[in-house]
Amino acid sequence: MNSDPNCIFCKIVKAEIPSDKVYEDDHLLAFRDINPAAPTHILIIPKVHIPDNNAFTAEDDHLAGRMFKLVRELAQQEGIAESGYRLIMNTGPHGGQEVFHAHLHLIGGQRMKYPMG
Ligand code: AMP
Repeated sequence: MNSDPNCIFCKIVKAEIPSDKVYEDDHLLAFRDINPAAPTHILIIPKVHIPDNNAFTAEDDHLAGRMFKLVRELAQQEGIAESGYRLIMNTGPHGGQEVFHAHLHLIGGQRMKYPMG
């Protein structure tokens, strides 16, 4: 599996640094954001190193589907499926991306303002 030794999320995948993990399978990992923007703030990542949304290829189509399915499951688990939530994938400099390993932010548990910053 493609991994970047300098990527903090790859290190989380390999358990080289700790995370507050909420889900893991062969393809995906989900863990709580270290600096939560709301009561629920979970990051959903592919285990394979894909730097950003632009870097997904046709081979990764199944990962995108899996990520959105996991969002629905985690939203149920967190009790925010009905109240609603915000999904964000920051991409590149204008998107405010800080960690260059593609990830979805699942944010909820309070009414969100738009935009966030
Ligand atoms: P982004 O701006 O979309 O790249 O967001 C990166 C997110 O990763 C931010 O919300 C950070 O708080 C979060 N983050 C960075 N390092 C860690 C970590 N070690 N564990 C959990 N979340 C992290």
